[in-house]
Amino acid sequence: MALALQTFPTVKDANAALKAAGTRYLGGGTLVVRAANEGDVSVSGLVMSTDPALSAIAAAGGKVRIGASVTMAAIARHPDLGPLAKAARAVGGPAIRNMATVGGNLFAPAPYGDFAVALLALDAAVGTEDGELPIETFLARRDGSRSIVTSVSFTLPKADGFRFLKVSRVKPKGVSVLSIAAVLEQAADGTVSSARIALGCMADRPMRAKAAEKALKGKKLDQNGIAAALAAATEGIAPITDPIASAWYRAEVLPIHLGRLLLA
Ligand SMILES: Cc1cc2nc3c(=O)[nH]c(=O)nc-3n(C[C@H](O)[C@H](O)[C@H](O)COP(=O)(O)OP(=O)(O)OC[C@H]3O[C@@H](n4cnc5c(N)ncnc54)[C@H](O)[C@@H]3O)c2cc1C
Repeated sequence: MALALQTFPTVKDANAALKAAGTRYLGGGTLVVRAANEGDVSVSGLVMSTDPALSAIAAAGGKVRIGASVTMAAIARHPDLGPLAKAARAVGGPAIRNMATVGGNLFAPAPYGDFAVALLALDAAVGTEDGELPIETFLARRDGSRSIVTSVSFTLPKADGFRFLKVSRVKPKGVSVLSIAAVLEQAADGTVSSARIALGCMADRPMRAKAAEKALKGKKLDQNGIAAALAAATEGIAPITDPIASAWYRAEVLPIHLGRLLLA
């Protein structure tokens, strides 16, 4: 089936074109073009915007704004985004990373969405023409979203305060069994003063491990200190089952990998 592609210089015009039935926004196309090629008849046309702000990265004073069309490869090599390089490199192989955008990753269903897991731990704000939404709210509502995501913004974590781990069975570029991202702050005595932990593949989209976050507060990052968080890690999860792993397996190994991340 032929796919019509409409390109607009402004996000406003592209948003207007997206109102037509069957149209989808085109990021890097690694998912939406594949779906159309595989016969997804719900996609009849693609819309994109060439607004330069969509491809810009701004990092100053500890604040970061990444345009939605920025690719994983661009993030991985950006000198000011070092703490995020590991999460960007976790997305596919080099060819995929050259195409895969931040905006598209926010919509990618599990087992995809590894970079969105990092953004959820970072408490990013997701920008559209109408303003910004906390990423947690955005993810909860994304199925009904028809607006173009323009950017993600967040405070850059200290290199030692941000941790990311992806577990896959096919190295180096297999899809996730699970992914975990954590932003941890520690007081002078080493106890955790704040924790934000995000999980991938533990639902159809990235989710927070809120019970584990709570259990970590005031605890040291040692075997005893993290025990309660590991026991609470599976609270509220509904892991996916796919050819890579069953929901049961994913739930079994989550505390093990969370433990490794916290003790790293
Ligand atoms: C072989 C292969 C391996 C992969 N491995 C991984 C992996 O390891 N980890 C991982 O996370 N993902 C992986 N993916 C999935 C995918 O490549 C990434 O999730 C990527 O970030 C999706 O971005 P995209 O720009 O290609 O999205 P697209 O395919 O362009 O779009 C995906 C969806 O998001 C919507 N969308 C895109 N951008 C916007 C926007 N700015 N505003 C509103 N809607 C938008 C589209 O309309 C579409 O519905 C893989 C894909 C393939 C084919």
